[in-house]
Amino acid sequence: MRLCRFNENRLGVVKDGLVFDVTQALDVLPPSRYPHPTYDSFIANLDKVRARINEILPKAASLPLEGLTLLSPVANPGKLIAAPVNYLKHLEEARADPGVHHNNQIDEIQRIGLFLKATSAMVGPSHGVAIRHPERRNDHEIELAVIIGKSGVGIASADAWDYVAGYCIGLDMTVRGPEERSLRKSVDTYAVLGPWMVTADELTDATNLGFRLTVNGELRQSANTKDLVIDIPELIRFASAFYTLHPGDVIYTGTPAGVGPVKPGDLIVAEFDQIGRMEVAVRAV
Ligand code: MN
Repeated sequence: MRLCRFNENRLGVVKDGLVFDVTQALDVLPPSRYPHPTYDSFIANLDKVRARINEILPKAASLPLEGLTLLSPVANPGKLIAAPVNYLKHLEEARADPGVHHNNQIDEIQRIGLFLKATSAMVGPSHGVAIRHPERRNDHEIELAVIIGKSGVGIASADAWDYVAGYCIGLDMTVRGPEERSLRKSVDTYAVLGPWMVTADELTDATNLGFRLTVNGELRQSANTKDLVIDIPELIRFASAFYTLHPGDVIYTGTPAGVGPVKPGDLIVAEFDQIGRMEVAVRAV
């Protein structure tokens, strides 16, 4: 199932260029009061929501996908985890290009581990990216984003797939510079997720997905998830060896070679096999 959040926080099922409005299915979510849970309630209750969707879908009104405002498919992730340099060719380009490494030592992911992006940086594709430090290089990084479905800590890689609720496309936007990754990659709007979530029962093999990114029609990145240095089960094992994963946590799995700058006025098109395509406009703050 392809689930999108659109317009004013409506829930939709995406099918054949249409979005079926199933917002009513959110009524099955448990009421919450302060202090609100620090995980995503929609993802935590996804099975219940989907059962309700199946009941109401036959009578749901549909809208053309074109022109809808697409929000991040996960509204309240507790954390956005990200894998640095998780494709070999990107490690090589990062080490070779001072515009990328800024005299930071670029180590293998096995050594440096993962980092976090602030949840306040998260937006959907329709929101676009607002360039905060235009005098610096601001790069696109297309990545497969894995949405965690249930809580777990110390997860064995053999069990890891059971913890995946689904997938979407992630843009790990980055200001280049000497500071820590988590600062440079947490600028408002620098964590794009979209265009919708494809549930794990529909996207059954994420280990061989082709994907590509263009800027103003020029191909910048083109790769396949089969070339991940640390694969998805191992990323889940690695992350959960340090912190508990919760429903709605998102893992940005890393970007391949071809990262490059964008500026206000550019249009990024990010596309993943079996997920879809999203357009993200770049603007000034
Ligand atoms: Mn990245």
